[in-house]
Amino acid sequence: MAENFGASNEDAPLRKGHCGAVSCWHHHKAAVVLIPGKCSWQYWLISVREPTVGTIESFTLDRRAEAAPYDPLYDPLVSSGPGLGMDYAPTYWVATAGEPPEDDGPLVGDADVDVVIVGAGFTGLSTALFLAREHGIRATVLEANRTCWGCTSRNGGQGQNASGRLYRSQWIARWGKETALRLDAEIREGFNTFKSLIAEVPECEPQPGGHLYIAHRERKMEFLRNEAKVMRDVFGYDARILSRADVSEQYVDDQENCGALHEPDGIGVHPLKLAFGYLRMARALGARVHPSTPVLSVETINGVHHVRTPRGVVRAKAVAFATGGYTRNDVTKALRAKIMPILSNSLVTRVLTPDEIAATNFRTHEVITDTRTLRYYYRLLPDNRLQIGSRSSITGADAQNPKHMAVLVEGLHRKFPALKGIRIDYSWWGWVDVSHDMMPRVTQPDPRQNLFYAVGYGGNGVSFSAHAGRRLAQRIAGQRDPSWNLPIYDSALQYPNVFGAVQWQGFAPFRRIGRRFLYHLYHAQDEAR
Ligand SMILES: Cc1cc2nc3c(=O)[nH]c(=O)nc-3n(C[C@H](O)[C@H](O)[C@H](O)COP(=O)(O)OP(=O)(O)OC[C@H]3O[C@@H](n4cnc5c(N)ncnc54)[C@H](O)[C@@H]3O)c2cc1C
Repeated sequence: MAENFGASNEDAPLRKGHCGAVSCWHHHKAAVVLIPGKCSWQYWLISVREPTVGTIESFTLDRRAEAAPYDPLYDPLVSSGPGLGMDYAPTYWVATAGEPPEDDGPLVGDADVDVVIVGAGFTGLSTALFLAREHGIRATVLEANRTCWGCTSRNGGQGQNASGRLYRSQWIARWGKETALRLDAEIREGFNTFKSLIAEVPECEPQPGGHLYIAHRERKMEFLRNEAKVMRDVFGYDARILSRADVSEQYVDDQENCGALHEPDGIGVHPLKLAFGYLRMARALGARVHPSTPVLSVETINGVHHVRTPRGVVRAKAVAFATGGYTRNDVTKALRAKIMPILSNSLVTRVLTPDEIAATNFRTHEVITDTRTLRYYYRLLPDNRLQIGSRSSITGADAQNPKHMAVLVEGLHRKFPALKGIRIDYSWWGWVDVSHDMMPRVTQPDPRQNLFYAVGYGGNGVSFSAHAGRRLAQRIAGQRDPSWNLPIYDSALQYPNVFGAVQWQGFAPFRRIGRRFLYHLYHAQDEAR
């Protein structure tokens, strides 16, 4: 009996005509056959039941590397590995994106390559795309589960002119005006990179128009006025303050609305259709994308990275991590205790009726967030379903507790009483990558090693991941660029800290206790009148 990798075990005859080109490795009592399928290669380990009876129908098959079931309790800080061929979360995007594009199937055996990218989400795929397109380097992307399995297939599809969790006024407070201006120019360029990729993947249903940032309490208007002023006066954006009546009459009648800040930049997308576009384009240029190929560890021997997977070792000149909130502590020392994975929930309702659209006065498809620290974000999708998201549980083990989804449903009802009781067609969650100083890093932490990462978007990676991939590709290709002289590029991720003062890896095991406390505090602050 073949070793079981967690995928389904099944006895089945090998049907003739099932194979196109077939590759085969055999042993005296067993053989591995690779069958290129439409979406991925299938691997079959064949053991001969009766070695003397050699017809193909007499083989017993163990199906390997087929999709393993989706694990709703998966927790990157607790689960035993990064997964192996896990199926997608049950998201609206997965249900509506169509068949995943072809990939290169799981990687079997040892290999020597130039560049390994770990993780096939937005970041990994855009890095592979730009490496091929702008530097002629054909990367090898290794993905533990199915392609785009992580947050890339689970987000709200809100593309904003931002990255990380800090506002522009906070950039100035942290780094001063000169650095904040250069960072803004870079993030702005990043938004243009995102727009240019969207233009290449028009099927991703872009909903442009801007971002509406709604004050959920009157007292939040002062913060929005200040932010709008900074955006206008320092950074030259056409940021406008809207009154309560402006919002409810011209945009949407959110019952919590006390006025809003309107930013001209903001695009909603179908994230999975967009990511599948990245995948197609990267592969068309020669990148190889291997699902069901988890990276278990990376060891550097004489300057060569030995990337260990369950079925072999890939030797690479450069390795880039694009593992988002699914980054594990055991995969490389460079990322150990550097990312705080935080669960985020999302739901999609049934299609709203014309009466419901009238009752909620949805006149916009723009992307919308509110001013809570534990914020709600929502938008009307192109097919007039409502998507809304917010925080979730602290641990994967508690993710299915209905009380977390109830937070979303209650928020939906508070904002739109006319939708009370509306059927929820899809709900899901995913692990967001939050860095300990709330800003991302696209960097090479040790200049002596060709090891890179792009993580820490803090729930703001739909748009910025496109540019992060472009910058990461430049960096891997050894290009120098003046933009490296920015905090998100020229410093490594930090360890957990206490009130921003002391940083220490040893705080990592206590982060979830701290988060529990913070959620109570933020909730009390957010809901205070
Ligand atoms: C519910 C929810 C809503 C969100 N809404 C928004 C939004 O509206 N706007 C926005 O900008 N952002 C949003 N985000 C965040 C956004 O989805 C992420 O910033 C973005 O998808 C990050 O992409 P990524 O490629 O860096 O990481 P991911 O898409 O998470 O991909 C990482 C991949 O790495 C793989 N991996 C991990 N470890 C290994 C390993 N050892 N070996 C091989 N593969 C490995 C994982 O399997 C995964 O597929 C949301 C996130 C969630 C969960």
